[in-house]
Amino acid sequence: MVIAIDGPAASGKGTLARRLAAHYGLPHLDTGLLYRAVGARCLALGRLADEAASVEAARALDVTTLDPEALRTAELGEAASVVAARDGVRAALLDLQRRFAARPGGAVLDGRDIGTVICPDAPAKLFVTARPEVRADRRFRELAGRGEAVTYEAVLADIRKRDARDQGRSSAPLAMADDAILLDTSELGIEEAFAAALAVVEARRRGL
Ligand code: C5P
Repeated sequence: MVIAIDGPAASGKGTLARRLAAHYGLPHLDTGLLYRAVGARCLALGRLADEAASVEAARALDVTTLDPEALRTAELGEAASVVAARDGVRAALLDLQRRFAARPGGAVLDGRDIGTVICPDAPAKLFVTARPEVRADRRFRELAGRGEAVTYEAVLADIRKRDARDQGRSSAPLAMADDAILLDTSELGIEEAFAAALAVVEARRRGL
């Protein structure tokens, strides 16, 4: 079974995707890491504004070398959202995501366009969200906990900017698929959110 999980930054979708993958014994792909890796490569080359360089970086991406720890910084989240707005970058990353989803037995993928573009036929789709202030608080704690010099206000501003860019772009904007189930985690702890997500997936498994 393919489980597609979308939502804005720091909504809790990554945690839920990991938990669901562990529960069902499925492989998991955090697709944000792909865009972060492309952004990182472009920054390293000093060519973030250069569309052709970002498409080339996306085509050359080696998914076996992705380092989640190094990629989950605030700076790379911003760079990812810049390169992710480009059609050529998205096209270059499409096949590898679809191949991952086509693994025998299924997979869990999380991102912004999994239910709408990458896996429109996924039987189980979740759109995970939370209020921007709640997401900023979570992301602030995560980044500060890893020693990044950030403030809550800067993280909130970054989240609002990324939301606007991800929702407003013409290429695969962040959007909820018609057949996705909305899960607002603003008032939920991790266990409650996981129980709610599991209930959605189980219902879809039973064809409800
Ligand atoms: O999920 P994460 O915060 O790691 O994603 C970083 C950025 O990558 C997002 O803000 C978004 O612009 C982009 N992204 C995307 N499509 C995906 C996953 C991430 O456009 N499927």
